[in-house]
Amino acid sequence: MPNIEENLRHIHKQMGNASATLVAISKTKPLQDIQEAYDAGQRHFGENKVQEMTEKAEQLPAVIKWHMVGHLQRNKVKYIVPYVHLIHSVDSVRLLKAINKEAGKVDRVVNCLLQVHIAQETTKFGFDTQELLDLLASEILDELPHVNVLGLMGMATNTGDEMQVKSEFTSLHQLFLKLKKGYNKPNLNLKELSMGMSGDFELALACGSTMIRVGSSIFGARNYG
Ligand SMILES: *Cc1c(COP(=O)(O)O)cnc(C)c1O
Repeated sequence: MPNIEENLRHIHKQMGNASATLVAISKTKPLQDIQEAYDAGQRHFGENKVQEMTEKAEQLPAVIKWHMVGHLQRNKVKYIVPYVHLIHSVDSVRLLKAINKEAGKVDRVVNCLLQVHIAQETTKFGFDTQELLDLLASEILDELPHVNVLGLMGMATNTGDEMQVKSEFTSLHQLFLKLKKGYNKPNLNLKELSMGMSGDFELALACGSTMIRVGSSIFGARNYG
């Protein structure tokens, strides 16, 4: 049995004085585990499935800030826009438009991160750099008042090669800084750079991450049935 409270304390120690936000990724984990982390002071939680996140949100304290970090289908957006705090995994313009539409129906502005493809694996979702530049240079965002683009999210290649991971994080950070300076739109507020998971969050923080998404180091390994 993992000691969730102790794991959280240990991660905060590793995070040092950095002002980064720790998002506890609770996918596949039961309500009791989330409650335990909550009781230890954790407020940001992330999930990768719409139904699972919605069911958990309904049963847990309303002050919890829920983050969607998994690939999101357009037809499921409506279930999370009423309560979601931040969607990290916006990987297409069509999805951004769907979020805008559904958020408009419930009179919300939904915070989003644009997911950037930085890993070598072809399976990971996200915009590539040129697609991102094209999107921001266009007037698409100007027509989406119900989304607020708060930053970028990236997942490094799943590899033990630290130099590889470091170069991916560094190039995402460079892109983030470049975009921050380059555009002025009311719903483009590039403040957050979501990168780093259990295996690589210290490296990610050293490379400029403002938000880390940590699951197994808090809750223990996941069992997929
Ligand atoms: C599961 C998941 C995480 C957390 O992974 P750990 O290695 O358990 O820390 C982070 N980000 C995303 C997008 C995930 O799906």
